[in-house]
Amino acid sequence: KGTNSGMHEIQERLKDVKHKILVLSGKGGVGKSTLTCLLSRAFSLKNAEEHVAVLDIDICGPSQPRILGVLGEQVHQSGSGWSPVYVEDNLSVMSIGFLLSNPDDAIIWRGPKKNGIIKQFLSEVDWGKLNYLLIDTPPGTSDEHLSVTTYLAKAGLTGAIIITTPEEVALLDVRKEIDFCRKVNVKILGVIENMSLFVCPNCKTESKIFSTSGVKQMCEDLKVPFLGSLPVDPLLAKCCDQGIDYLRERSNSPIVKALDKIIEGI
Ligand code: ADP
Repeated sequence: KGTNSGMHEIQERLKDVKHKILVLSGKGGVGKSTLTCLLSRAFSLKNAEEHVAVLDIDICGPSQPRILGVLGEQVHQSGSGWSPVYVEDNLSVMSIGFLLSNPDDAIIWRGPKKNGIIKQFLSEVDWGKLNYLLIDTPPGTSDEHLSVTTYLAKAGLTGAIIITTPEEVALLDVRKEIDFCRKVNVKILGVIENMSLFVCPNCKTESKIFSTSGVKQMCEDLKVPFLGSLPVDPLLAKCCDQGIDYLRERSNSPIVKALDKIIEGI
């Protein structure tokens, strides 16, 4: 009964959220949180009338508050639930990171299991009307992924975007991620290849960072959409560390152009 009533609350809460998208990666450090942030900013810039939100359920490493530049903000509770933190007028975020900095909420954090917190986020955050809800998950396929896919089954999960770097070690894990999505009936919206190239800012020589670049081929073999590639840009890493909006900072970069194409393909 508990789970079912929880599912109903989640369904009610998310009924005005048009697209609910999981952002997944097989391995850590491939840029999943960075891409979640960039995609949310790209969607929010594209249409000021449409609202976008990020839900950060990366319990071991909640990095969205820092990347989105709202570290140290407090989450407030009102009669209609938890209010997310607003990054822009049409971009909000909720993260376990906000709860960690609040000593009053530490008990809630310690007590229930991980899926309890995820369920609370899904059923109690007052997002309002959203066009996109992007859910930043931990790397791999663990409890959090099973919880979130189960909880969102009735509310209608749009699908998953998988982030990877091009090396074979990462691709091995992406194949598992694709297998997971198929087993739990989550549609794969596509795979994004991150850190494919480095273009020297001085001589413009292109260097491949990793030995292989088989993401596109893997997508063809496994019949999943390939959404695009993003190069390495040291300024992006700096912006993430400092919570600066990279899209405004470097609007003419190849990353921003690639993102425009990617969001059209989603
Ligand atoms: P994950 O969420 O997969 O663990 P992160 O998004 O935290 O990975 O990224 C890991 C690190 O790599 C961060 O310091 C981030 O700023 C940096 N990074 C990610 N993508 C790029 C890129 N395209 N260019 C430069 N730095 C990047």
